[in-house]
Amino acid sequence: MLDKVLIANRGEIGLRILRACRELGIKTVAVHSKVDADLKHVRLADETVCIGPNPPNESYLNIPAIISAMEVTDSVAVHPGYGFLAENADFAEQVERSGFIFIGPKADVIRLMGDKVSAIEAMRKAGVPTVPGSNGALGDDSKKNTAIANEIGFPVIIKAAAGGGGRGMRVVHTEASLLNAISVTRAEAKAAFGDDTVYMEKFLETPRHVEIQILADNHGNVIHLGDRDCSLQRRHQKVLEEAPAPDVDATARQQTLAACVQACKDIGYSGAGTFEFLYENGSYYFIEMNTRVQVEHPVTEMITGVDIVKEQLRIASGEQLSFKQDDIIFRGHAFECRINAEDSKTFMPSPGKVTTFHPPGGNGVRVDSHLYCGYSIPPNYDSLIAKIITYGKDRDSALARMRTALDELYILGIKTNTDLQRSLVTDAAFQKGGVNIHYLEKKLGL
Ligand code: ADP
Repeated sequence: MLDKVLIANRGEIGLRILRACRELGIKTVAVHSKVDADLKHVRLADETVCIGPNPPNESYLNIPAIISAMEVTDSVAVHPGYGFLAENADFAEQVERSGFIFIGPKADVIRLMGDKVSAIEAMRKAGVPTVPGSNGALGDDSKKNTAIANEIGFPVIIKAAAGGGGRGMRVVHTEASLLNAISVTRAEAKAAFGDDTVYMEKFLETPRHVEIQILADNHGNVIHLGDRDCSLQRRHQKVLEEAPAPDVDATARQQTLAACVQACKDIGYSGAGTFEFLYENGSYYFIEMNTRVQVEHPVTEMITGVDIVKEQLRIASGEQLSFKQDDIIFRGHAFECRINAEDSKTFMPSPGKVTTFHPPGGNGVRVDSHLYCGYSIPPNYDSLIAKIITYGKDRDSALARMRTALDELYILGIKTNTDLQRSLVTDAAFQKGGVNIHYLEKKLGL
C-alpha cells in the first residue's frame, strides 16, 4: 500500500480522501492556500504545507508548488480529487516524471478523454453509443458544415473540443444562424481554452443525464458500478443526484454498461472514471468521460458497498481489483443533495462564518462535509459545503429519508440552498422519477 499521500484539493473532498487514507493506514499531507489553514482535513492531516496565496492559480493549480510539497514531505502519491488539477494531463505527467504516483489514469488517457473530439472518436470505435454529429472537428468549408447540419437535422449544438464546465457550447435552430454560431463558438473557445477546435452534434431536446461509474486496475480488470441520474441541473451544474437511474430501458442499459467496460479495456483506462450520457427515448448518447472521482460518487457507494476512493488508492498502489463484476450486488436506492453556501432564490454565493451547524443523522443518512461551528467559508472557491446522502431499500424510502434529513439540517451564519433542496424532494414530478435536464430551470422560471 502507498506510504504517504498528498491531498491536492480542499473542502469536503479533501476530507473524504483523508478519511479513506486513514482507513487504509496511509499517512496524509494536506496542502492548502493561506486562507485554508483552518479547513477540517488540514487540521486532521499528519502533515500540512501552505502552497501559496488564496487565488487558485497561485495555490491549488500551482503545479511546481504541489510537486515541491511532495518532495519535501516524501509523499509517494498525489490524490487530485475533482476540479483543480484532477483532469490536467500535464500535471499527471509532471507528477510521474518527478517519480511520484498520480492517483488516476495515465496522462495520455486523460489527454485523449479531455479532448471531446478524440474522446467521442475513441468511444465510437469501442462501440459506445454517441450523439449523431460531425464525427470529428468542423473545418472551414461553409457548404460542408451546412450539409452536415442538414444531414443531422436542426436543432444542432456547436461544442468546443476543449470545453468544460458547461462552457463553449451554442445551440443552433436554423440554417440561417449556423455559420455565425460556428465562428462565434470558435472565437470563444480560442479565448477560453486556447483551442478553437469545434464540432457539431444533434441537439437533444429533452434528455436525462445518466452516467456510468467504472473502476479499472492496472492489470486489465475493469468493472462497472452501475449508473446514476444527475438530471437536476442549473446552468449545467448538478444539484441533486441518485443511484440507480430510475426507469431506464433495461436492455439498452445493460448494453451500455458492457460497452463502457469494453471501452476502458480498449483505451487502457485505470482508476475510477465516469462515462456521461444523455438519455432520451430509451437510447444512450455518450457526451464525455470524467477521468476522476466525481462529487456524486457517494450514491454509488451506498448502493454497492464499494468505497470508490479507497479503491482508487488500492489501484494506484498496484493492487488488482479485489472483486469481479459478479461480486457487485446492487441494493436499494440513494440520493445526494448538494448543499451550497448560496442564496436559495438568487444563487448569490454566501461566504462567511458558520455559527451553528447541526447535520442530520440516523439510519441510512450520510453527511460528507468539512463544516464545523466557527468555520469561516472563504469567498475564493466553490460554494459546495455539504453533501447530504440518504439510502433506502427502494427509491421512495430513500427519498422519505432525504425529506427528513433536510428538515433536520440546520446551518446558521450563512445562506444555503437547503430550501431549494427541500422544494425538490417534495416536487411531484421528481418524486415520480425520470425528469429531464431542463426540469429544474423550468421550475425555477429560468
Ligand atoms: P461540459 O464538459 O462543459 O460539462 P458536456 O459535453 O458534458 O460539457 O455537456 C454539458 C451539458 O450540455 C450536458 O449535460 C447537457 O445539458 C448539454 N448538452 C451537451 N450536449 C448536448 C446535446 N447534444 N444535446 C442536448 N444537450 C446537450
